[in-house]
Amino acid sequence: MNPVFDRATIQVRTRAHEEILDITSRVQEVVRTLGVENGAVLLFCPHTTAALTVNEAADPDVREDVNRALAALVPKIPFQHGEGNSPAHFRSALMGPSLVLPVEGGRLALGTWQGVYFCEFDGPRTRSVWIYPLVAG
Ligand code: ZN
Repeated sequence: MNPVFDRATIQVRTRAHEEILDITSRVQEVVRTLGVENGAVLLFCPHTTAALTVNEAADPDVREDVNRALAALVPKIPFQHGEGNSPAHFRSALMGPSLVLPVEGGRLALGTWQGVYFCEFDGPRTRSVWIYPLVAG
């Protein structure tokens, strides 16, 4: 399997300090644009206060609950980072910067209830998600 590094970028405009956005349809559009038929795509978040994850997309309350639970995980310790956004860096580290998603027949192969989420922890900002096709070569 030889990865083909034709990167596509999607811009994500966040509107709150902390927000989890469903980007599934936008990623699907990129899969179509890149012409990935069977294989996978690598998604990478090039930011230190944001992240990517996959979770339930049917009920938007799940996103809000995950957001609240992540906020509750931030410990009450004296952070040293002078920028003041250490809770956002911590949440980004917990969730991680990348995903590998399978593609079958030109479609993201996700479970019935799954969606692709962009997680903002220090917004609002304009963010990027880099998407690379991983296809059999
Ligand atoms: Zn910082």
